[in-house]
Amino acid sequence: MHTSKMKKRGFMKSKVVEQLVKASVDKVALIPPTHMIEPSMESYSTWIVQNQHYSHVSYKVMHPFTKYASCTCEWAMNGNLCKHQIMTILMVTNVT
Ligand SMILES: [Zn+2]
Repeated sequence: MHTSKMKKRGFMKSKVVEQLVKASVDKVALIPPTHMIEPSMESYSTWIVQNQHYSHVSYKVMHPFTKYASCTCEWAMNGNLCKHQIMTILMVTNVT
């Protein structure tokens, strides 16, 4: 039912989602770059990012470059794009 309404109106940009993504991007600046830990050589699909306040707490970012990207933090577990995923993509991608 919801999908048929979307088809009639066409796709619209969601301001709420846009603000959530922007907030996650802004929060990346608060995480020290040293909190990004390289994965083991045999598993480049999983990266570790330490909590910005408690370095003994860390999150696993899995498959960051695919549409199945995920993270073990609570924010991502609720279906959101989290700062850990964005940080992994920003730090690992070598765009020139
Ligand atoms: Zn996360």
